Amino acid sequence: MTEKLYYKDGYLKSIDATVTGVLDDGIILDRTIFYPEGGGQPGDRGSFGPYEIADTVKGDNGEILHKINGEKPSSGDTYTLTLDWSHRYEYMTEHSAQHLVSSLLYSELGIGTLAVHQGDGFFTIETDVAEISEEKLLEIEDKASLAIREGHDIFQKCLPRSDAEELHMRRTIKVDDDDVLVVFIDGLDKVACGGVHLKNTSEIKEIAYKGFEIIRGHVRTIWLSGDAAIRYRRENSCMLAKLSSMLSSERENIISNTEMLIKEKITLQHEVKSLQAKIAALEYSVAMAGGMSPVMIASSSPSSSFESVIPESEKCIVMVADESSRFLFHGDKNYFDILKASIPSIKGGGRGMMYRGSFSGDRKEFLDECEKVLNG
Ligand SMILES: [Zn+2]
Repeated sequence: MTEKLYYKDGYLKSIDATVTGVLDDGIILDRTIFYPEGGGQPGDRGSFGPYEIADTVKGDNGEILHKINGEKPSSGDTYTLTLDWSHRYEYMTEHSAQHLVSSLLYSELGIGTLAVHQGDGFFTIETDVAEISEEKLLEIEDKASLAIREGHDIFQKCLPRSDAEELHMRRTIKVDDDDVLVVFIDGLDKVACGGVHLKNTSEIKEIAYKGFEIIRGHVRTIWLSGDAAIRYRRENSCMLAKLSSMLSSERENIISNTEMLIKEKITLQHEVKSLQAKIAALEYSVAMAGGMSPVMIASSSPSSSFESVIPESEKCIVMVADESSRFLFHGDKNYFDILKASIPSIKGGGRGMMYRGSFSGDRKEFLDECEKVLNG
């Protein structure tokens, strides 16, 4: 059985250890400071002498497996085991911050934690409720920030199961062991957990609420902690400064000015659409005055502008191709089928006399090819 030194001291960065077992994808050591993936906390990585440890997981029989890709050391070899400390510390911070937020969700709002996840630069807490207001979540963020400033000690105790059960913790004990590891945030929380934690809430430094999503009918909240939260706030601040400069508006006016711009954009889009329809009508009447059939129109207006321009009763074939490689075909289905069979780049369909879709390649060449096929 590997001695789990990460429980004795979560801040040990390097120790000497000896190989006691070698499996296909990793090695077992007599003692380790590497935490194996579990409880939403990623596994540690680092080095063992000259070997790189890519991940640490629990094996099928509960053994701690240090995963090494390629050549492995032999049983009995002793080397220095060194943690990728920045990786560990980031996840230890996230994990401790998750305890803090989960405890506050429970104590302040009576909301339980169903599942947690770490490993993407943020952490998530899936709650047991279908709805929480953003206002309440921001209040939780405030309270977590206060707990960080107050500096509550975080410590772990291994208790007999009966003693742990008497603590009436916010989450039921999920392990079957006789002894249960319980993590305390002094004055705030107690919960059974086998993860690795910071020593004090002040080390979390910063917490930021990022948003929420609905998953499996529950609210899953998204948070950042530590340096990642500091970076997130700084990036948001820089983004606001950039927006303020782009919009030539004070920060407090960014939202109202953006709303105004969106309204203006919608009005302009309507005007553009109406002008495109007028241009389409003009282009159509000029083309029809030529008396040619089929009628080929290369238009700078979207081909869809012609939908309301070409009368349903029109008997001749009209092919409109626009600048974004879209087309509108007015004519009998047989002709459209001939075009599709002859020009492979045509994608699209329709019914009655109207067909729409896209083509690839040069617009003029496309129209020339259509004309050739239809006249052939
Ligand atoms: Zn924990």
